[in-house]
Amino acid sequence: MASIFTKIVNGEIPSYKVAETEEFYAFLDINPNAEGHTLCIPKKEVDKIWDLDEALYNRLMTFSRKVALAIESVVPCKRVGMSVIGLEVPHVHVHLIPLNKMADATFQSKVTLEKEAFEALSQKITRAYLASNK
Ligand code: AMP
Repeated sequence: MASIFTKIVNGEIPSYKVAETEEFYAFLDINPNAEGHTLCIPKKEVDKIWDLDEALYNRLMTFSRKVALAIESVVPCKRVGMSVIGLEVPHVHVHLIPLNKMADATFQSKVTLEKEAFEALSQKITRAYLASNK
């Protein structure tokens, strides 16, 4: 059965898209640790990050770096942290989390956002991402 993230890539489940390439997709985490918490995934469905072939892993890191720099340029934060967990969704995803305090990295304190706030954030990050890729 397709993962929930494959369904997002295929447009069967909605998402707040941030960036997309032929191979990768980035979208806002629906239960964010902090405003701007973004997930970067390979479209190819692989469960564990260490099972990606090395070249795809490296390209995922390059994509995630571009997205992280875009987030950092528009979301107020001290830095953008990166985590890979995967205990909930068995489809590789890199968490990019704007950090202001250690609790933002813990996945135990969450923020609640309205649809409009998700939309505004995703549009802001997308604009920064596209501007950096001109
Ligand atoms: P983990 O697999 O533990 O790294 O966590 C999976 C992450 O995916 C969690 O932070 C969830 O909030 C997030 N998530 C699950 N379903 C969706 C969805 N439909 N849209 C966006 N984020 C999601």
